[in-house]
Amino acid sequence: MQHEAAYFSKSGSGSVVCDLCPARCHLSEGQVGVCHARQNIGGELITDNYGETVSIAVDPIEKKPLYHFYPNSAILSTGPNCCNLDCRHCQNWSISQRKVRTLYLSPEDLVNAVIESKSIGAAFTYTEPVVWFEYIRDCAPLLRKKGLKVVLVSNAYVNPEPLAEFLQIVDAINFDLKGMRPEFYSHVCKGKLEPVLDAIRMTAESSVHLELTNLIIPELNDSDDDLQKLVDFVASLSRPIPLHFSAYHPSYKLKNESTPDDTMIRAYKMASKKLPYVFLGNVRMEGYADSKCPRCHNHLIERSLYHTDIVGLEGSKCSQCVTESGIIL
Ligand code: SF4
Ligand code: SF4
Repeated sequence: MQHEAAYFSKSGSGSVVCDLCPARCHLSEGQVGVCHARQNIGGELITDNYGETVSIAVDPIEKKPLYHFYPNSAILSTGPNCCNLDCRHCQNWSISQRKVRTLYLSPEDLVNAVIESKSIGAAFTYTEPVVWFEYIRDCAPLLRKKGLKVVLVSNAYVNPEPLAEFLQIVDAINFDLKGMRPEFYSHVCKGKLEPVLDAIRMTAESSVHLELTNLIIPELNDSDDDLQKLVDFVASLSRPIPLHFSAYHPSYKLKNESTPDDTMIRAYKMASKKLPYVFLGNVRMEGYADSKCPRCHNHLIERSLYHTDIVGLEGSKCSQCVTESGIIL
């Protein structure tokens, strides 16, 4: 469904500039943006993906991954048929980079689907929700009015002004931090690193619950230097942020070998020296997905695949030493 796009400016001779994400596409009449979702039609920027969902499912919130936001709950998850990056390893490339059939769901229909599914809210995920800005802006107040939560799972490739609006209307975000070298972002993802870091810093300073995910890819972002820079950046943020390392498996245009377990353990050990909450995902190893009290190491939440047990919390505090965990229940 077509809808007037937010965040664009006119640049003369019928051209427009889209200001939603750092790609800042300059579009002449008829041209389509890098995300394939926004087009200059008659000197206006129009999005054709409003409410067009490419997938819809009820997922455990741990699958987003969000480990410290209503653990052990279900969330209705959906997303658009587009993305503003083009990662060589994209595991959802068939719905992020190719046009496929979509289903229109009005904001009211989405709220009803969340209520029927008995989920805590809606997660905008799978592909890239930033490029669904207008739809999410309409859905979020309706969801919140019913006491439901609004979650984004995003690549953080968004400009500060729209991000400021998102931060007013969402409850929790998992942002990808794909690497710490500008060349990684330009060669592997066709984007830029600095705006991603800015978006993460800005979100860490807001009241929105934030977790971060780093996909470790052999030979591309798995060196000690890469991992240490990432850990140092996360540790420098204005509040403690849970960090998820995820193992890569070959997908789309990238054929590098899968991430070995010892690389994942190396990352876990490095990060655990500086960060209170570090997790490994997409691995078969047990014991690396539990939340432990940063002070007394009491197990707060134990996880095995998507099975979650809250074992050591009283309210949001450690049941043993009464340290505040920051976990939202
Ligand atoms: S949202 Fe799409 S059209 Fe707008 S700047 Fe980003 S890639 Fe370009
Ligand atoms: S940002 Fe995510 S959805 Fe978009 S291309 Fe990269 S991995 Fe795929």
